[in-house]
Amino acid sequence: MIPYVRKIDFEYGKVDQVSPLIRRVIANNPGPFTFTGTGTYIVGKGEGVAVIDPGPDQPEHLRAILDAVAGETVTHILITHHHLDHSPLARPLAKATGATIYGCAVKAPVVEDAVKLEAGYDTFTPDVSLCGGGAVISGPGWTFEAIATPGHTSNHICYALAEENACFTGDHIMGWSTTVVTPPDGDMADYLASLDLIKSKGFAVLWPTHGPPITEPGPFIDAYKAHRLDRERQILAQLAAGETRIREMVPKMYVGVEPRLYPAAAHSVFAHMIQLVRAGRVATEGAPALESEYRLT
Ligand SMILES: [Zn+2]
Repeated sequence: MIPYVRKIDFEYGKVDQVSPLIRRVIANNPGPFTFTGTGTYIVGKGEGVAVIDPGPDQPEHLRAILDAVAGETVTHILITHHHLDHSPLARPLAKATGATIYGCAVKAPVVEDAVKLEAGYDTFTPDVSLCGGGAVISGPGWTFEAIATPGHTSNHICYALAEENACFTGDHIMGWSTTVVTPPDGDMADYLASLDLIKSKGFAVLWPTHGPPITEPGPFIDAYKAHRLDRERQILAQLAAGETRIREMVPKMYVGVEPRLYPAAAHSVFAHMIQLVRAGRVATEGAPALESEYRLT
């Protein structure tokens, strides 16, 4: 079982000091993919402040961020990925503060699915590209390393804060929920590798964009990964039992889950299926698709 953490004390639009270096303001955009809303993090104080994931394009959230940093200078805006609940406010905040935007633009245009699986996509372009990770970004009293963590999206970046052995994990690792991995931009093999990468860094605390921090990252990531491997085993069991189509497997695998969530679940199964086909454990005719027929090799 994943040891979810969901208890979070906050008031919309009000800034809270959540660690010696970190402040947080939560946007009023609660929903099925955002939990209580987007947590915008403010790191540092005074002359050089960094803002991580400014969030949705809401004037009242922009105002809340600007109020939180009144009298200070925002120099850096760091983006984890291009979903609508993370990046759209970057440009308005940059205009208001003169800050530089860092992140990785999406490589391929994303095909909008008929099913709403995520908060939606933003056509975001950073001023400084961090694709591939590795860049070190610093200001007065803080040092970030960009860590490329593809999986949830191809352009996802986590930001390690050296001074607190902390990591801002965006939607890659969240305490309140598992992450949606939707092909083609999402990739399950990349996702699992990115979980291993964050685990290997030995962070003391993870700060997801939604929900409270994860204070025991090691066991949490182990359980998070075990959950995915469990799903993979369930898929192999379905195939072994003679099921061939994703839409028939989903109700059997997601017992107790509301049928309205089946389309999202089907995409998650599809993400696993692509990985299993690539690994040669499952076969299908042509390129794997949602409606394809699958069988064990
Ligand atoms: Zn996202």
